[in-house]
Amino acid sequence: TKTYLTGIQTSGMPHLGNYVGAIKPALEAAESNDTLYFLADYHALNSVKDPEKLRHDVRSVAATWLACGLDPERTLLYRQSAIPEVFELATILSSVTAKGLMNRAHAYKAARDRNAEAGVEDLDAGVNMGLFNYPVLMAADILVMAADVVPVGRDQRQHIEYTADIAGSFNHIYGSSYAFPIPRGAYPEGEGSMLPGIDGRKMSKSYDNHIPLFLPAGRLKKLVRRIPTDSTPVEAPKDPDSSAVFQLLSHFADEERTAAARKRLEQGGMGWGELKNELFEVLDATFGPMRERYDALMEPGSELDGILADGAARARERARATLARVRSAIGIA
Ligand code: ATP
Repeated sequence: TKTYLTGIQTSGMPHLGNYVGAIKPALEAAESNDTLYFLADYHALNSVKDPEKLRHDVRSVAATWLACGLDPERTLLYRQSAIPEVFELATILSSVTAKGLMNRAHAYKAARDRNAEAGVEDLDAGVNMGLFNYPVLMAADILVMAADVVPVGRDQRQHIEYTADIAGSFNHIYGSSYAFPIPRGAYPEGEGSMLPGIDGRKMSKSYDNHIPLFLPAGRLKKLVRRIPTDSTPVEAPKDPDSSAVFQLLSHFADEERTAAARKRLEQGGMGWGELKNELFEVLDATFGPMRERYDALMEPGSELDGILADGAARARERARATLARVRSAIGIA
């Protein structure tokens, strides 16, 4: 069987768009594959320098995935930082990685371009070595688990190609003793349908138009009320598809309920306020039970830390096995 591996960014609580576009499909895929998910806490360290925030975000993202239905018996969930072999392998891989490859990495080049645009003389200003080395660490994340398939967004394509390149360099030199399986990326088909945020644009943390997954009911209600709508009177016919409220409803309500709302909007007789109440009800019914599970997992002393420790212990067996072979191949052991 093939091994699937995906890193999860730990930047705060995911929103409804992340749930629809990333979490739900990932959990569905995990039902039929040998799957590993890791929380990329050392990747986060490059940008997060607030220890309390880092600590909280990692637990929050882990609790979110578990509350959404990740089954830790079937699917290994672990913190990157709990696998020291990742960092040892990153050091080893550095010795077979051309610096020029890193110079061409999109994230690094983008940082330099931003400096150039802003007229900053030193194009590397604000770039730490963590950002520069990111592709090597990511290659280590993947290769240490001998993953075959890496389901990721299209923006990660270059990192997967780099991982294959770096593995290829290693295999070229040491392949007669140990060769990494060359992983391939699995990218989402097409663009997918993007969930709108409360201002109608794509829901995104960067636009600050997002609805976090697990808000207390009162705050969820307030956010839903803030979605702008026009002032068409209640009795007038409306175009459901022009409204972010309706688009959100159709994502989370069953077909019958969506069809009924569509009909009433098109015929006139349903106001935006009522539609918002429906949306709130549907969101609260969908995510309420998950929110309770999330809150329980976030309590100090919950089973969360045990689940992560268990995932790490099982993942580490794989990592140890890889490192033993790699160390022997390179002449360190
Ligand atoms: P940022 O604004 O910080 O870039 P984001 O909120 O847009 O973050 P990403 O980190 O870009 O989220 O995306 C994480 C995952 O969630 C990706 O797989 C992406 O396809 C999915 N995703 C993000 N926003 C949406 C959305 N509005 N609809 C559907 N899927 C989404």
